[in-house]
Amino acid sequence: NETPFPYENLVVDIPDYPEPGVVFKDITPLIADERGFSACVDAMTQHFLGKGVTKVVGSEARGFLIGTPVAYRLGAGFVPARKPGKLPREVYTQSYALEYGTDELQIHKDALSPDDRVIIVDDLVATAGTALATAKLVEQSGAKILGFSFILELAFLNPREAIGKEYSQEVYSLI
Ligand code: IMP
Repeated sequence: NETPFPYENLVVDIPDYPEPGVVFKDITPLIADERGFSACVDAMTQHFLGKGVTKVVGSEARGFLIGTPVAYRLGAGFVPARKPGKLPREVYTQSYALEYGTDELQIHKDALSPDDRVIIVDDLVATAGTALATAKLVEQSGAKILGFSFILELAFLNPREAIGKEYSQEVYSLI
């Protein structure tokens, strides 16, 4: 049995960022580390290998960083869920609540088809608002969601419970 990579040691806590009282988890040192980055990509890939994933959907912006290498390793395509106004063709749009106000994510209407088997990937899940909005975009396209995966899950915010209220698919987090 291999010892799991000590991912946590390469995540840096930033107190009072972006505002007082919030501890921001900075995962950029983890993905900047040559062993850390491959450990993340390998673990996520291993978990979903052989499950027939055809597309990885990653949320802007850090979902692109982990989603694209995992898609490549799975032999799947990558579909970006982007902030409004970034995608040039017809899009599906989903709004979601932020602490103050709302935001939106979009995917191209023709990026996914009902034949696709999708995993939704991001660097970090906190309230799960982003992941749920991304899942709804995938649903609008008729594709099947196989699971959700994150480098880091902020368990004290109960994102697993929030996802579980709407989706029975698995949630796989490295930290
Ligand atoms: P949620 O929608 O509340 O689950 O927040 C997750 C989204 O916000 C992801 O796209 C993350 O990249 C970003 N995010 C929220 N908190 C943090 C953090 O502490 N570190 C890095 N990214 C964060």
